Amino acid sequence: MLKLTNTLTRTTDVFAPADGATVRMYACGPTVYDFAHIGNFRSYVFEDVLRRHLRSKPWKLIHVMNITDIDDKIIRRSVELGIDIKTFTAPFTKAFFQDSEMLRIQRPDIITPATDYIPEMIVLVEQLLKSGHAYREGDSIYYRISSFPDYGRLSHLDKRELKVGARIDADEYEKEQPNDFVLWKGPKDEKEPRWTASFGTGRPGWHLECSAMAMKNLGNTLDIHCGGVDNIFPHHENEIAQSEAVSCQPFSRFWIHCEHLLVNNEKMSKSKGNFYTLRDLIEKGYNPLAIRYLLLSVQYRKQLNFTLEGLASAQASLDRIRECIFRMKSSALPEGCNPQLSAALSTAMAQFEAGLDDDLNTAQALGAIFVLIREINNALTESRLQVDNRNEILHWLSMVDDRLAIIPSDTQQSQDAPGNDAEVEALIAQRVAARKNRDFAESDRIRAKLNDIGILVEDTREGMKWRRK
Ligand SMILES: [Zn+2]
Repeated sequence: MLKLTNTLTRTTDVFAPADGATVRMYACGPTVYDFAHIGNFRSYVFEDVLRRHLRSKPWKLIHVMNITDIDDKIIRRSVELGIDIKTFTAPFTKAFFQDSEMLRIQRPDIITPATDYIPEMIVLVEQLLKSGHAYREGDSIYYRISSFPDYGRLSHLDKRELKVGARIDADEYEKEQPNDFVLWKGPKDEKEPRWTASFGTGRPGWHLECSAMAMKNLGNTLDIHCGGVDNIFPHHENEIAQSEAVSCQPFSRFWIHCEHLLVNNEKMSKSKGNFYTLRDLIEKGYNPLAIRYLLLSVQYRKQLNFTLEGLASAQASLDRIRECIFRMKSSALPEGCNPQLSAALSTAMAQFEAGLDDDLNTAQALGAIFVLIREINNALTESRLQVDNRNEILHWLSMVDDRLAIIPSDTQQSQDAPGNDAEVEALIAQRVAARKNRDFAESDRIRAKLNDIGILVEDTREGMKWRRK
């Protein structure tokens, strides 16, 4: 039985889809004005583990994600650069998909840019105006939060703070102060993108897209809405207000939020020099799989302190898994099955499932793998592992890989330790060609691949150099 902690109720409850068959899940996606950082990716990796776990159950899953391709920051930067928002956001959208792939994050079933949902957003605003939940002020339309008695329920905002009629224009705001928020913004600058609606020309506020996209694809009530804790207020609170005022039904049954990521025990910030995009880390030679491992090694509801030492020990854990698989595959084993090892495998399987079912406790699930690895290594040393044990263990590890996507792919590499020179030279040549073509994504991919087989690449003035780690 899967249990999840619901931010709305503050309780940990058994989860099953409302109709018993299909999980309808919505996750807030990236704002594509820059490369995503590892804090963003903690949320996406958590959602990926949740997605994979839900898919292991006898349910179908429809997982929807938006891509915010219009908001204050995007408009400001594209106007500064003198290009339209599509041209500005396209490379960042592409980078998001490439980064996600490097982290082995599966694509949501439906993932669409916000600007593809303008007609649906316009209809929502019309409905909110009609029912008195929205009002016009100048060229913009605002949501009247005093019209929605449940406002603040998700974030437990103190209602006494509610200031009737205080309005906020910005797409994002951090103040724990509920304000009427903007649904539709009249253009302030000639160069701003705009759409025509019955209530005036303008563009949607940020919060609107998730309500429109979620309800269009998943119906009025979702089973799960997830995101990072920083989305709880105001974004998710506003999504609830918009959606429920129109549908008169609960917007989502479960709200699941991933905690913050700290770097060196501090909030990530460019000025502190502890700000990492995925690309920064790969450029430094770190393995994307080790990054994924570190991001999911702590249960999603706990703060995760990301450090380069932590990354090194994540890599060491991956090496232990790889080494164990290699030893198993390369050892000559007697036929048959050792019941002791079968029992150890059954325990690991049960602990793994129990961990993930317990509010996605990934730390427990990983722990179960390493207890088994210790048993296997001891059994190999003492010649107790038999052919059938190996087969069932390898089979289980491939299932673990479906679920957590952390089993190193090149399990054979230590055989010819690691990668022969010709192989490495061929990859280096491909990377040189990629860089010549300014295909930096491909160049990064090859660097990651080389890193996976234990090769470090350095770009020097004399050209590309490589060495074994
Ligand atoms: Zn959202």
